[in-house]
Amino acid sequence: MQRFYLPPNNFDGDYVLSQDQDFLKQLAGVLRAKEGEKFMVFNGDGREKMVQLLNLSKKEAKFLIIDDHVGPREPAVKVNLFLALIKADKLEWAVQKAVELGVTSINPILTNRCVVKDLSPNKIKRLNDIIIEATEQCGGCFLPALNPLLPFSKALFVAEKFGGAKLIAWEEETEKQLREIKEPEINIFIGPEGGFTTEEINQAEGLGFTLVSLGQRILRAETAPLAALAAIYLG
Ligand code: SAH
Repeated sequence: MQRFYLPPNNFDGDYVLSQDQDFLKQLAGVLRAKEGEKFMVFNGDGREKMVQLLNLSKKEAKFLIIDDHVGPREPAVKVNLFLALIKADKLEWAVQKAVELGVTSINPILTNRCVVKDLSPNKIKRLNDIIIEATEQCGGCFLPALNPLLPFSKALFVAEKFGGAKLIAWEEETEKQLREIKEPEINIFIGPEGGFTTEEINQAEGLGFTLVSLGQRILRAETAPLAALAAIYLG
């Protein structure tokens, strides 16, 4: 069954109404939706609703809510991913996979060795679109937050505020494996293509971060978040 994210202001009692032109075009054009057809919708509050299309015009789609339940696919562990900026296509890929696996928030960070130094409004928009699409596809009922870009040292304090385990993935760590960490909330930092500098690692350690390994192999910056989330959720 097709699943859609629709913003909270589209929900009104037993009905869902949308006047979003792109959505209306998708329904009428791409999906050739018919009145009476059923869909699953969610608005990011952790629940999902089965709806039936009552009316579809060029101006509006109106649905009746026929079932409403708590999202059945929410992971038990909250993970705030602190991801160093990497090339746009790689970042988009990493964000999509992180959402599929169940990430709670994505926190882009700027580190010493980042080659890419900014996150333009355009890139942010694309990432938010990817987050919505990936959440629709994977069955999630919360939209992971994409937080503003932060310098590494500030991000260390933000992780502290979030609470939970504070981890930094370091390819030279040989003892502590990420999959051994069992906490209900995890903050994990992943470096850019060139990795973290020793100073950054020392700074994080000084603030109580635990260095963790993602295995013996050196993973690419876009593979590391996927491996980390798989280790947390499936390990
Ligand atoms: N310094 C490196 C590799 C960077 S890999 C080099 O250029 O050779 C990019 C990021 O992925 C790293 O900063 C680290 O956070 C993470 N990473 C990759 N492989 C890892 C591993 N085996 N264990 C822990 N972290 C890893």
